[in-house]
Amino acid sequence: MNSDERVNKQSYITINGETALYGVIGNPVKHSFSPKMHSLAFQECGINAVYLPFLIQEIQLPQLLDAFTVSGVQGFNITIPFKEKIVPYLDLLSEEAAMLQSVNTVIQTAEGWKGYSTDGNGFIRSLTVADISIKGKRVLLAGAGGAARAIAVSLALAGVSELVIVNRTPKKADNLAELLRSTFPNLRISTILPTDLRSDIVINTTSVGMHDNGCPLPDTVLNHCRQVVDIIYNQPVTPLLKKAAERSIPYMNGIDMLLYQGIEAFEIWTGQKAPVETMRQSLIDSVYSSTAIGHIQKKGS
Ligand code: NAP
Repeated sequence: MNSDERVNKQSYITINGETALYGVIGNPVKHSFSPKMHSLAFQECGINAVYLPFLIQEIQLPQLLDAFTVSGVQGFNITIPFKEKIVPYLDLLSEEAAMLQSVNTVIQTAEGWKGYSTDGNGFIRSLTVADISIKGKRVLLAGAGGAARAIAVSLALAGVSELVIVNRTPKKADNLAELLRSTFPNLRISTILPTDLRSDIVINTTSVGMHDNGCPLPDTVLNHCRQVVDIIYNQPVTPLLKKAAERSIPYMNGIDMLLYQGIEAFEIWTGQKAPVETMRQSLIDSVYSSTAIGHIQKKGS
């Protein structure tokens, strides 16, 4: 059963004078899977709300929150390129969002608009569901962009023992390492890739492999690693994951991270447990055919 059939069997959307409005801002935004995923989740939970895409120009940002207040918007997501640009306009930030200076989820509260970053928690939840333990582990992180920052902070909070961060632009890896050192003095951090690195988990947070056949890291890093995670979600097996599969290394793609960052947002807005399976199925329907796989591939499967 696909996600539309799953929800259509249970409830029908009702729009009336009390329908709450949520959405996602971005540019471009028409590619977003969130409107379908969250609208189906609201329906399944019997919540009278809709979720719409909003194509925003940067010049409109200063007026956006006033316009949303007047329109009765209760919460929204932020996608590229506004995750950092929205920050100065918010009234409150969660601790993690303040540290990252980046926000992907906003809620209207009694004290004003409050911003959260759910990418990091979403990533950690996806690992937990896949039974990947990270406490005390040595992690190689490729990339130092927005997703990498959120993931690195969450990995540090979750107790990894060592992080090696490598990035095309080394300065950005150094800046991320500095941020982490100032907050997590016991964490071992390096921004140089040793030739004989032994890592428990290799994580790709770059966009390399998303629209090309590129691999973000040299093959040698796979010689001594136990698990590989690629947060790219537009294909089940990225070039990096293909190499992991060829070496029988267990791997995971980015669908579950995408799912759980959305689940975190839904739970912030509604205070209710999200309908995980409906949201997962919606994403799988959106991203791939119905046979696509979002979980970790166990060794040998
Ligand atoms: P971003 O802030 O623009 O960061 C992009 C990263 O990729 C930077 O580290 C950048 O290196 C690197 N990069 C880009 N092109 C490269 C190239 N040709 N060679 C080497 N490195 C390159 O983007 P982001 O928001 O962090 O997103 C990064 C990826 O994560 C995207 O594929 C996105 O779809 C995915 N993502 C997935 C989820 C999920 O839920 N699964 C959530 C967020 C993001 P420089 O610093 O040198 O430019």
